[in-house]
Amino acid sequence: MQEEQPEILKKERRNKQYASPNGMHDILPVSWPAWNHLYKKVNELAHDYGFGRIETPIVEQAELFSKGIGAATDIIEHEMYLLKSKGGDTLALRPEGTAPTVRAFVEHGMHVWSQPVKLWYWGPMFRHERPQRGRYRQLWQFGFEVFGDEDPAIDAEVIQLLTILFKELGLKDVSVQLNSIGCSQCRPYYKKTLLHYYRPHADKICANCRRRMKINPMRMLDCKDERCVRVKQNAPQIVDHICEDCRHHFKNLLEFLEEINITYFLNPYLVRGLDYYNRTVFEIWPHDEVAPGQEEAKKDGEEANKPKEEKGSQFALAGGGRYDNLVKMLGGRTTPAFGAAAGIERIVHELKRKNVKIPEAPAPRIFLIQLGDMAKRKSLKLFEELRNNGISAASSFGRDSIKSQLKIADKLGVEYTLILGQKEALEDTIILREMLAGEQLTIPTRKLMDVLKTKLAKKPKRKVPRTSFFQVE
Ligand SMILES: [Zn+2]
Ligand SMILES: [Zn+2]
Repeated sequence: MQEEQPEILKKERRNKQYASPNGMHDILPVSWPAWNHLYKKVNELAHDYGFGRIETPIVEQAELFSKGIGAATDIIEHEMYLLKSKGGDTLALRPEGTAPTVRAFVEHGMHVWSQPVKLWYWGPMFRHERPQRGRYRQLWQFGFEVFGDEDPAIDAEVIQLLTILFKELGLKDVSVQLNSIGCSQCRPYYKKTLLHYYRPHADKICANCRRRMKINPMRMLDCKDERCVRVKQNAPQIVDHICEDCRHHFKNLLEFLEEINITYFLNPYLVRGLDYYNRTVFEIWPHDEVAPGQEEAKKDGEEANKPKEEKGSQFALAGGGRYDNLVKMLGGRTTPAFGAAAGIERIVHELKRKNVKIPEAPAPRIFLIQLGDMAKRKSLKLFEELRNNGISAASSFGRDSIKSQLKIADKLGVEYTLILGQKEALEDTIILREMLAGEQLTIPTRKLMDVLKTKLAKKPKRKVPRTSFFQVE
């Protein structure tokens, strides 16, 4: 049985102002038109490109991530939300969507499905990062994964899908950054070459990179520390050190991209933060922002003289790559795969930054006002009847004065207001007010739908402002 709390504690509880956890945010009604717009586009494109939807649990065995993503990555070292289950398992809030999708691929024996298996997801991920603009601890992502095909055409297809998405969203100024990070055959040699270059510079790089030298040397290439950026400028580039097969794969990808007219930039420092990638890695950036490692190239370019717009998120909008070994690593058969994920908050922020017009549901042309208990009861029924007749009406159940309700109707810019008072409710009539002319007529309720349909068939005389009902409140 629950113990009664001492009076003083109860008081404290009552006065406490709760806030959403650090780095996590509410998505309020005002944001939903943009979120819905994005969702609709992603859903549409995923369908057109033959991706099936998958939703995995928000928690997984923590080991899935440490094994899959790599123990020496930022995510595993500092950013996982871990929880102990009552059974003693260590679970993790998922920090990304690929490892869970691979787990599902293996668990459901998808290797016997017709290949390639194409899956997409949309949901929240969790990373315990230092909260800052554009970085959230609960961040929303959607992603695409393709299993069972090592052909670079797959890489090109996913990159194409994303560039089409951005174009159709109205974000035309995005650029694709590309690199190949080799395979398990050639990468060890490159790592050695890289270490050979870095060793004499060990005192000129940041402490973090000195640590990375030992555990994950490729990550030194995407360090943003000024000293490290300077040192890496003469570092050997991996594309010059990949094996013949990897080179061939990369060259084919570039040809595919040229064939479908996708402009790309080769970024020799793009390595991505996760260990499971091999061969192709890519990121998609707003064109006026730069990926790590591209700062210098950009400075020399024409962009340098352009006036800066509002500062962007300084993060890639999307990114991904090939992970031909992950399925096997997580207990499945050898299955080549390619995937990409995109940050939903970042894209929504970018839509706002670029003033992209978001289509909204048409505003209602009718407002329903009621006064008194009987009218209130009747208007709930009427509201449903309107809906069943395909007429969307706004209303403000619960407000008592006609004046305040009319004020809302006016702010919403509706053409007609239906007024249902005590008298009308008793007589089974309703008042129809034409807002622009200020004219009113009383009509029997049973004739209402026909009258409205005739009136609404005409084009709106009044330009309906695009304010949402919630903003008016
Ligand atoms: Zn290779
Ligand atoms: Zn560094």
